[in-house]
Amino acid sequence: PIYLDYNATTPVDPRVLDAMLPWFTEQFGNAASRTHLYGWEAADAVAHARQQVARLIGASEKEIIFTSGATEANNLALKGTFEALGAQKNHIVTVATEHKAVFDTCQHLEALGAEVTYLMPASDGLITLEQLENALRPDTLLVSVMYANNEIGVIQPIADIGRLCRERVIIFHTDATQAVGKIPVDVARDNIDLLSLSAHKLYGPKGIGALYVRKGIKLTAQLDGGRHERGLRSGTLNVPGIVGLGKACQLAGTSMLEEEKRLSILRDRLENEILNAVIDTHVNGNRTYRLPQTTNISFENVDGEALLMSFNRIAVSNGSACTSALIEPSYVLKALGVPDDLAHASVRFSLGRFTREADVEETIAHVRDVVERLRR
Ligand code: PMP
Repeated sequence: PIYLDYNATTPVDPRVLDAMLPWFTEQFGNAASRTHLYGWEAADAVAHARQQVARLIGASEKEIIFTSGATEANNLALKGTFEALGAQKNHIVTVATEHKAVFDTCQHLEALGAEVTYLMPASDGLITLEQLENALRPDTLLVSVMYANNEIGVIQPIADIGRLCRERVIIFHTDATQAVGKIPVDVARDNIDLLSLSAHKLYGPKGIGALYVRKGIKLTAQLDGGRHERGLRSGTLNVPGIVGLGKACQLAGTSMLEEEKRLSILRDRLENEILNAVIDTHVNGNRTYRLPQTTNISFENVDGEALLMSFNRIAVSNGSACTSALIEPSYVLKALGVPDDLAHASVRFSLGRFTREADVEETIAHVRDVVERLRR
């Protein structure tokens, strides 16, 4: 089937794989080995990758902490901040449509004594600055707002949020897993203190990611041990994964602007032609402030489960692969006010580097055929 689920994960780019391969075999050294060439070479490769990651988001390489992915980065950001500073201020503000890796971490912190405000987005998926401002309190320690939503692709007003948090001396974390590599992200421009990212969403391997920690931000480590990564994340470094993440970031940086254009044209065609060809369909989320390659469409008068099961020529999903019990309607769409039956019959199409025009044409025809058949 045609793969249109790039927001769930991406294939490893062959150039990324090539960069990684030697670090599994001949160059297998431990990056923490200080006494021989094997270790020195691995450490150099990690340093190079750290620069590549930093450059993509406008950070300095000292501010990059490698983790096992964005789930771990989010956990470290939120739990690490609360553990370091929660005795002074214990209020956290986040959004109801966050990924579970942030949402459930906030619930965990609530059980430990944090007070959490969950902002409800408008029906277009966006929160407003006024809404955030009204939620802030003298004891607000941390604001965590995702850069771009994995299910509907909407992009929150991150630069405005960053400016407000900096003014109020509140730590600002953003889960940028779906944004990094797709749109320009710059931690300095946006006044971001903590930022999570993951390699497997940008043509790197699964199981590796990073947390950007702005210089001067205090965190308590969540993994103790050999004090790797400036003591913030102990554990022998995943050198091949880190090299792959670095290469993926470098490639994303060079092709991003072109890809943004190419994919937004393909996405718009897919979206507009489905809306034209199939009556009673709606796009979920704001269509302006949105990732260039994501569209989430609801189909009225069809059974959601039958719909997803009938797509045999395309690989799509109804939202997050991480919570993909088909029976549960998406909590993101529910937060936008989409009724349960319509949320069930909603499909996320996410395009990527290997999507071609012919794929889009075939998808349009297939979707039209399937929906027409099910409605009959
Ligand atoms: N945050 C967002 C917004 C995501 O889309 C994902 C991946 N589904 C994650 C966090 C988790 O990332 P990882 O798979 O690297 O743990």
